[in-house]
Amino acid sequence: MSRQATAHLFAALEAGSDGLAYVFEDQRLTWAELDERARCYANALAHAGVSKGDRVAVYAQTCLEQVIALFGNYYRGAVHVPINTRYRAAEVAHILADSQPAAILGDAAGAEVLDQALSHAKLHRTPVRVGLDAGAPGFAFTELLAGAPGEYLRPRDSDLALMIYTSGTTGPSKGVMLPHGAVVANMRALTGLWTWSKRDRLVLALPLFHVHGLCIGVHGAAIHAMPVLLERRFDPAKVVARFGDGPDQRGTIFMGVPTMYKALVDHMWSNSSAAATLARGRLFTSGSAALSPSLYEDFVSLTDHRILERYGMSETLITLSNPYVGVRMPGAVGQPVPGCDAAVVDEQGDELAHGQTGELIVYSSGIMAGYWNLPERSAESFITDREGRPWFKTGDVAFVDERGYFHLVGRASVDVIKSGGFKISAREIEEALASHPTVREIAVIGVPDETWGEQIVACVVPEAGPFAALNDDPSELFAALVAHHRDHLADFKKPRGLLVCEELPRNALGKLQKHKLIARVAAEGL
Ligand code: ATP
Ligand code: MG
Repeated sequence: MSRQATAHLFAALEAGSDGLAYVFEDQRLTWAELDERARCYANALAHAGVSKGDRVAVYAQTCLEQVIALFGNYYRGAVHVPINTRYRAAEVAHILADSQPAAILGDAAGAEVLDQALSHAKLHRTPVRVGLDAGAPGFAFTELLAGAPGEYLRPRDSDLALMIYTSGTTGPSKGVMLPHGAVVANMRALTGLWTWSKRDRLVLALPLFHVHGLCIGVHGAAIHAMPVLLERRFDPAKVVARFGDGPDQRGTIFMGVPTMYKALVDHMWSNSSAAATLARGRLFTSGSAALSPSLYEDFVSLTDHRILERYGMSETLITLSNPYVGVRMPGAVGQPVPGCDAAVVDEQGDELAHGQTGELIVYSSGIMAGYWNLPERSAESFITDREGRPWFKTGDVAFVDERGYFHLVGRASVDVIKSGGFKISAREIEEALASHPTVREIAVIGVPDETWGEQIVACVVPEAGPFAALNDDPSELFAALVAHHRDHLADFKKPRGLLVCEELPRNALGKLQKHKLIARVAAEGL
């Protein structure tokens, strides 16, 4: 191989540039300052006994220290393991026991959960604990930065950069091992396609523990030496403000998940100047979950911007994207990113024709090195083509249209319901019923049933307002939905049960956790 791909990641840091790298609340960092701090921290880690290949776990709200620690971990040759801050002690303990970190970075807000997790997790050695902010237990991060930069490593493409635990949408989360070369190659291709440059400014309000915010956001920005306007948490008003005119504003790019776009649209509807401010951006992208065509249209009507939707997962990084120039098709996730390939196959692994629905398999420049501690699960996840290339079986169901655009139907495990001998798309029923005025949110699931194989159940969060009376009587609500369904869909797709919910279970990225609804109906009945 020629030049190491990782060179592109470190170019901005090592250039010693006084260009703006990060703005976070009242803090600002240039690339040179970020580099210097990352090296000081890396040196302190070395003195604390953290070696090349060791894992360093992070359980903390978004802060600048985490970004410094990410690059510092790389300079130490350590593997950065970010943990979802919504996870409670049992989930954090699972990740700690699985990854066996040599060091753990935490903040004051998460200290109690981390204490509990540490007391439960079976660890082979006591990890070095580092406190990222005032009041957090462990060595103070500021102290670690006070030393000299010292020696530092430059990771190679095959070294592990990250271990990202999957979202846990379909079950317990799995540790995905991502090598440096995979992360940089895939992010270069993607952000190149999206025409990112150092003249842009990224407004980043996504969590830093998933691929979306961490790989595309932090790594993509570093590759282009692009300033990042980092938000502690997503707040629609603050995101809009970042597209204003001040020195810490002038954002040009925003990446979000559909729930963020819904909040932005609602905010713009109630604040007349917000849409004009946000419209000054040049690129809005969406991923992690399906962006509904109606939300896409609402955003166009308010801002005149067409949200660019893409598809990816922790195991493969980003493999499909709508184009920057060309048609950004609502409801579609686009075409293979350069360096990636995708196909829809049947149960035998044979490629299907246009329009036919099957499992999506992908070949990716950003492929994982495997699931940590799960070698069999890793091996099962791939199939090899005639040229010996490994393709990852995504477990997502999709079809390709005549233009070569991929459309996701849902997840094989929960979104394809097998009932009465039919394979039924849960999403199709959801879209048909969502248009009923009593429905605020809906999730359609299949629950095991002796007669039908699986029985279709609609889980509905009812709308307040003129139809609220229906909510008092679930049987009336059910009858109204079935009548509505009759106008839109075939009889065999009719829900046979209704679960009225106060809210739907979602994870930190706003992804619906259908397995929780299925388990609830299985345990409690309807
Ligand atoms: P787990 O694997 O633990 O069940 P997860 O699959 O949600 O969790 P991630 O790797 O974070 O964890 O997410 C990848 C999944 O997100 C994809 O398999 C796909 O189902 C979904 N996804 C990503 N982008 C899109 C998109 N644009 N539209 C619809 N779904 C998407
Ligand atoms: Mg997954």
